[in-house]
Amino acid sequence: MKNIFSIDVEDWFNILGFPGSLSISEWDALPSRIEANFIRLLDVVGEKDIKVTCFFVGYFAERFPALLKEAVKRGHEIASHGYVHNLVYEMTPDEFFMDAEKSRKIIEDIGGRAVKGYRAAGFSVTEETPWYFEKLVEAGYRYDSSVFPADRQHGGLKTGIFHPYVINTGGGEIIEFPMTITKIFNASMCFFGGGYLRFFPYQITKFMSQKVMKEGRPVIFYVHPREIDPEHPRLNMGTMKRFKSYVNLKSTEAKVRKILSDFEITTFEDFIKENNLHGGK
Ligand SMILES: [Zn+2]
Repeated sequence: MKNIFSIDVEDWFNILGFPGSLSISEWDALPSRIEANFIRLLDVVGEKDIKVTCFFVGYFAERFPALLKEAVKRGHEIASHGYVHNLVYEMTPDEFFMDAEKSRKIIEDIGGRAVKGYRAAGFSVTEETPWYFEKLVEAGYRYDSSVFPADRQHGGLKTGIFHPYVINTGGGEIIEFPMTITKIFNASMCFFGGGYLRFFPYQITKFMSQKVMKEGRPVIFYVHPREIDPEHPRLNMGTMKRFKSYVNLKSTEAKVRKILSDFEITTFEDFIKENNLHGGK
């Protein structure tokens, strides 16, 4: 069983779910660090002969088209992380559809290849957004990797399904790759990306990844370019959120290297092909 490694391509100021979250109208004025961080992350991935999936925020694809083109040139899969990077449950179905479609088209135009995958900002598909999958199919997506099937500060949808599955919406099918969760003493936990990956010692992430693989599921790893940049500016937030957002930034690059050496990695696109999964209208 191969595992999947993904990068959510966004900047240091794109952290969501706290009162001081910054919206897109404020981003232009901020010093960007995404170019150096994303290329460095691609260089780390490039130390092995590995292809990964890059979920671009449409705004950054438009502002830094060279980054998207570089990902394509190096053979990685390009996918969409929305255009404005807003929480899904704070959008209307129409706003969500337009945002998802816009980002897909921009990324396809710049990258020169089809975009099949979507990841929601903050894994924010919830019980409040029952229209989510239908709108994604309508916006031209074949797969989604946004359901977080456990408790989470924002987002989270307790489907009880931990493996990839096909959802039949009114308008067509979409393949869902829920974020990887495993049960420990009856608690559903993630060890494989973002703050979870930074917080836990690597040996725990490794052990839990092997457990997931034994359960017959791929592990879906995910990182953000800011997470290998300990020097990035900090946003003003409460103590708990600050801890989750900034813990162990210094050791994350080394953890990424270990994941890429210890596990067999592929993209969502290739996993779908190799496992003969189907989605689409
Ligand atoms: Zn994001």
